[in-house]
Amino acid sequence: MNSFFVRVLVNSGTRMTDKPFTYALPSDLEKTVKRGSAVYVPFGRGNRKTPAMVLEVTDRVPDFPTKEVIRKIEELPDLPEEALAIAQFLVETTLSDWASALQSVLPPGAIGEFVPKIRSFYRLTEEGKTSSVPPRAHRQTKVMDYLRKEGEEEQVVLLKATGASSSTLKALLEKGWIEKADRRVARREVEVGGRDPMLPLTGDQKKVFDRIVRERGTYLVCGVTGSGKTEVYLQLVDKVLREGKQAIVLVPEISLTPQTIARFEGRFGRRVAILHSRLSTSERYEEWEKIREGEVSIAIGARSAIFAPFENLGLIVIDEEHEGSYISEKNPKYHTYDIARFRTDYHGASLVLGTATPSIRTLYRVDEGEITRLDLPNRVGSRSMPKVQLVDMREELKANNRTMFSRPLYRAMDQALKEGNQVILFLNKRGHTSFVFCRSCGYVYRCDACDVAMTYHKGRKRLVCHYCGREKVLGKKCPNCGSNAIRDFGAGTEQLEEEVRRLFPEARVVRADADTMTRKGAYDRVYRDMLAGRIDILLGTQMIAKGFDFPRVTVVGVMAADISLNLPDIRANERTFQLITQVAGRAGRGDQPGQVFIQTYKSDHPAIVTAAQYDVDAFYQWEKKIRAMNHYPPFSRELHIRITSPDRAALLDKAYDLRAFIDSRLGRLEEGQVEGPTPCVIERMNRRYRFGIMVRSSKQEDLRGLGREILDAFPSTPKINIVLTMDPVSIF
Ligand code: ADP
Ligand code: ZN
Ligand code: ZN
Repeated sequence: MNSFFVRVLVNSGTRMTDKPFTYALPSDLEKTVKRGSAVYVPFGRGNRKTPAMVLEVTDRVPDFPTKEVIRKIEELPDLPEEALAIAQFLVETTLSDWASALQSVLPPGAIGEFVPKIRSFYRLTEEGKTSSVPPRAHRQTKVMDYLRKEGEEEQVVLLKATGASSSTLKALLEKGWIEKADRRVARREVEVGGRDPMLPLTGDQKKVFDRIVRERGTYLVCGVTGSGKTEVYLQLVDKVLREGKQAIVLVPEISLTPQTIARFEGRFGRRVAILHSRLSTSERYEEWEKIREGEVSIAIGARSAIFAPFENLGLIVIDEEHEGSYISEKNPKYHTYDIARFRTDYHGASLVLGTATPSIRTLYRVDEGEITRLDLPNRVGSRSMPKVQLVDMREELKANNRTMFSRPLYRAMDQALKEGNQVILFLNKRGHTSFVFCRSCGYVYRCDACDVAMTYHKGRKRLVCHYCGREKVLGKKCPNCGSNAIRDFGAGTEQLEEEVRRLFPEARVVRADADTMTRKGAYDRVYRDMLAGRIDILLGTQMIAKGFDFPRVTVVGVMAADISLNLPDIRANERTFQLITQVAGRAGRGDQPGQVFIQTYKSDHPAIVTAAQYDVDAFYQWEKKIRAMNHYPPFSRELHIRITSPDRAALLDKAYDLRAFIDSRLGRLEEGQVEGPTPCVIERMNRRYRFGIMVRSSKQEDLRGLGREILDAFPSTPKINIVLTMDPVSIF
């Protein structure tokens, strides 16, 4: 008779069961198997040996027959209690499945995917050290001399330094003069660092620093770009480390520049682990291991670094907290802030959010007393904020200026280039144009599989669908009426590049967007070239809006500020405000003052006007009213349900069933509201029709309850797919 039983989640090949199964625990495993252990269990009719994760060990005897656990999977270290608690939190709050939730807290990659990097090292043997007989061969002598001087050396370096070949080494090995050892080496070498001194904080910085260390809590550091937020984080991290604790610093993927990393490594050297998606799985695994083994005390990384397996966290920093990338759009669809709160509560640590443009949700949390706001209103030193000028493009057209450049922007660029300074031009768009159409019949090229206009990419001479990647060749004649009046509409980065080259033929121009920055290292190269002054004009998309800090940029142009205002999204104003402010912040980072030109057709729009004045509070007060009036977040919480199917009629049937189901339960939701089914912004994608239903309530728990009921009553099938998202941020 077994005295212990385990409840496990079984990973049955393609997916993990979402309900726990009970197995008996053989007595020889009682000591080693705990909550968080991985085990093999017999599963299914064939009793296949299947991996499973133990959620609970219990002595309650089940009232049904059970099979026995086969063995513990020793290769997988037990998941710590906190990791399991986080996974459970993810399942409960995001309606995620267990498998994806566990994936987030497990080491990167699948079991066994990690391959250690092994290198051969050589050194002199005792005999080699004392041997006075010089080898006859010249190369052998060189190797011996090298090793005598340097001690031990890795094969590749040794061969390169001495010009020897592997047969030289073999000969010396046979003589017994040198010996070889295979050893595991780190994939990411940390050069030196750890010696940069902390800067004496300015008065403003000191006030913020002191307030945060005085009391554990959640803080928003609201500071204009260049106000010294990062310096404050560095010193907070230093403080935490001195207390023997650890810190996680999150930065958006795009701001994880070599400069950012160097700044942290310059202060903390080898105590820093780096986690981001440009690393290979093995590289990420090694960084993860360093954290788990306690070799490092700081993790810097993008979103997923929030799960870094530290055991004694003292601080979590979320820099640029307003960034959309902090919200995961695939399962588990979590908001990084929620996980950060969970972890800082668990460890009794502090959470610090930093940004120049707080999200509406964060400012609302400040209003509610959940977050303490601290301001850094000025740039460090004597640097002033760049002067922002709104340019009404309607006036330019009236003055018969048909170029993409307003006269003031053109003049400023000309001046900057003459003085040897740099210019950044920002266009919130991808590709050459937004769509291609026939001027004679109005035909627009659309993707066959998605309900969207295709975009013409001049470089590749192709029409590309930006949702599924399908491509088409652009013919000379309209497929509808045969006319040859096919034209591009609108302007994209490619066209901007052409025009810049035409107007400034002498300038060295580089374009940075999703199409040119595909190759590994391309982004870092632009970065270095910009810093070294090898680029005069850098133009691009969102990609260049963040984190770049170039002292010689004196002019920034926002080419078409309105584009993001017109997105069908309740966050369009918020995004526009943030984007303009962030781009403007790229100017005047050095000793020379900066100038920013915002070209717009809506020069009186509040989001644009307040951004030009760096007035976070005015923008918030205005936007808050709109949100409150419509019962939009943050005044409500949301549950979005997306239903997709290749069969439109079947989809609508299901969608109306779902709506009726929700209606029957709406009374149970606090301030419940429901909209839809309505077609998604892209009504058809990848040959599937797409409809959405939006449910709002002032209580998130109520929506979670409803979500779980829906998951049970309306399971996804291959034909009709149902996806639930709590507090979605983009629902195209
Ligand atoms: P933010 O993160 O708010 O953009 P940073 O921390 O990057 O601001 O600071 C902007 C610039 O000012 C950097 O070049 C930084 O080295 C410098 N700086 C920050 N704090 C100080 C200080 N206390 N004394 C001198 N220079 C500072
Ligand atoms: Zn036509
Ligand atoms: Zn498509």
